[in-house]
Amino acid sequence: MLVACLDLEGVLIPEIWINVAARTGIDDLKATTRDVPDYDELMQFRLDVLARHGIGIADIQSVIAEMEPLDGARAFLESLRQRSQVIILSDTFYEFATPLMARLGWPTLFCHHLVIGDDGAVADYRLRIQDPKRKAVKALHGLNFRVIAAGDSYNDISMLSEADAGILFRPPQNVIDEFPQFPVTTDYAALANAFAEAELGVSKRSEPGTTTVASGSDYALQSASEAG
Ligand SMILES: [Mg+2]
Repeated sequence: MLVACLDLEGVLIPEIWINVAARTGIDDLKATTRDVPDYDELMQFRLDVLARHGIGIADIQSVIAEMEPLDGARAFLESLRQRSQVIILSDTFYEFATPLMARLGWPTLFCHHLVIGDDGAVADYRLRIQDPKRKAVKALHGLNFRVIAAGDSYNDISMLSEADAGILFRPPQNVIDEFPQFPVTTDYAALANAFAEAELGVSKRSEPGTTTVASGSDYALQSASEAG
């Protein structure tokens, strides 16, 4: 009863904003969660930059339309999906990610929505929930799944920490240095091995049916089970 949770950008697809920066020549758009740990601060900055340069959703989608998953990503994902259920937990937006999901064979994706104005400008964004990656792992624990998670940057750390095992994939040096508790992998073969090893470790640590129910009052299913 294992679920693999994967980050999207930097793990399966290139960083969307970096591609938009390269295409538009706007260096300010190169900042990612690798550089700015506070996601809201990063997004407000991006929205300001887009508005200042008059870049709308159509411009961004035309960049994304030409992007491909990282080399080997689809094969890795398909083989992982044969071993366990896989959910992609991302801080990207459905308005961006959909064409790339088609190229990855339509895996399950939990992410956020953009607010698009009548003029096609990216007016705002709507986080589905605060700290979504950690809460998703917590919810899966409440459903009695073990979770192994992999990601590459700051916004993955709460997911990796909440999971039964966390793995870094091609992280920047600052993330490696700050979070030495997670194994580091740099290619899909190593990532697949790390998943297999983590699976062994997780199954040894606890027998099925003995998972600790997620703690915390923010988890609705727990409240429901307590009530029932
Ligand atoms: Mg990432």
